Amino acid sequence: METFSGLIVTEPNSNPIPGKLVVEGEKIVALLPLNSVKERHYIFPGFIDSHTHPLENGLHLLYPDLSHANSIAQVLELVATGLTQIPDTPVFFSFNLEPERLKEHRYPYRRELDRLTKEKPVFIYRVDGHSGVANSKAIEYLGENLPPGVEFDGAGNPTGVLRAEAYETVSTRLKRLISPDVIQEAIRLTAQEALRNGITTIGAMVGSDELSEKEWAVLFDALATAPIRMVAYFQTWNVETARKFQLPRIGGCLLLDGSFGSHTAAISKDYFDAPDYNGILYHQDGKLVEFLKQANEFGLQTAFHAIGDRAIEQLLRCHQQVKSDKNLRHRVEHAELLSAELIKKIAELKLIPVVQPVFEQIWGGPEKMYAQRLGKRWMNTNPYRWLLDNGIILAGGSDAPVTPLDTISGIKAAMNHPNSQQRISGPEALALFTVHAAYSLKLEDIAGTLAPKMQADFVFLDADPRENCNCQVLATYVKGKLMFKSQRLL
Ligand SMILES: [Zn+2]
Ligand SMILES: [Zn+2]
Repeated sequence: METFSGLIVTEPNSNPIPGKLVVEGEKIVALLPLNSVKERHYIFPGFIDSHTHPLENGLHLLYPDLSHANSIAQVLELVATGLTQIPDTPVFFSFNLEPERLKEHRYPYRRELDRLTKEKPVFIYRVDGHSGVANSKAIEYLGENLPPGVEFDGAGNPTGVLRAEAYETVSTRLKRLISPDVIQEAIRLTAQEALRNGITTIGAMVGSDELSEKEWAVLFDALATAPIRMVAYFQTWNVETARKFQLPRIGGCLLLDGSFGSHTAAISKDYFDAPDYNGILYHQDGKLVEFLKQANEFGLQTAFHAIGDRAIEQLLRCHQQVKSDKNLRHRVEHAELLSAELIKKIAELKLIPVVQPVFEQIWGGPEKMYAQRLGKRWMNTNPYRWLLDNGIILAGGSDAPVTPLDTISGIKAAMNHPNSQQRISGPEALALFTVHAAYSLKLEDIAGTLAPKMQADFVFLDADPRENCNCQVLATYVKGKLMFKSQRLL
């Protein structure tokens, strides 16, 4: 038996109370209030990030990060340095390219990447993970018949920029070149980053349709042996794969559309900065309906990526058509551009939107990327206040590596939504990453609150994150074991 004293916050709406948490084995057995405690720290339930990509996040820690590059020359230099530092990798990646930030305002060209290497596939991901740029070797992985999404120059040659299906194809095929050891290592690095940020559970979106059973098994094992709880979401349209691994859920960033940044999110009216263009629906209704029918029949929770209102509408329409089981807690990932009508339907279908508040902080408001792409419709992106006011349960996530595995920033971003009408309170924001995240993962009986019989997943903080202050993680415990301790606590 072990005890932990501090100012304990058991759930999003409760006040900090001086007390003692009693832990036996992996579980909380009692919570004892005290008149006072000498410890100044707060004890909160371990944070839950409902939507992450642990493999990609780990790769992004292993390979160069381009988010601070200001020019094409800098991008090329970072890639060149990386190529010499990681010489024995069969494929080379870089992450977080934001062409808008570069002084040239463009992607590097395929030929510029070819100058760095022609032997090894190189693929650079755009920050939103919905487009990228490939060297010639990587382009070869598209095969003979080029899928849609390849950008061509005036002479009819690929520039290297890949979007939509072409992007997905290259990205998934190149990831298959990564060895099981590197997969394990990447996922372990993600778990460590999560622990540093007080996160004890993540929704882990992994894999793609092309994987073999053996490859799924490698991912499954890496998640199962990670030092935090990683709830596996297999990103496949093949329901049998989830059943083989006895998973009660399927999907993740199973794409119904792309992103605003890449102009591939499917929206009902044209892009503000691309007239006569309204994005892409990646799949036909028929395929989606068939999939939802099977998933419902087998009692699987589903999760689909849908960002634009036209993609969200498609998902709702198909759920309605198959009369999806509301008890399965079907999720819609991102669900960014919404209308009053769509929100009403989400509430009726009891769908759980899994939202990324930090997206708004980075791209929301009247002056940033959402406004460039959508014009005045920036006011309808991520309307958390409206969603909650309609009785909808919202779960929070980072979509790491799109934004960092950092729940405290997520809570802050939700409270400080750039559209003041859509801000939510501190307790509501905390719920996104605790109780409601647990609900979206069907873990509310073991995680998300502090109470007897719950798993002893908790975090020590130096302040109350609901109070809009700077707050830091001091220690993280998983199943009663200390897994991270900050320098400040030593
Ligand atoms: Zn995602
Ligand atoms: Zn997604």
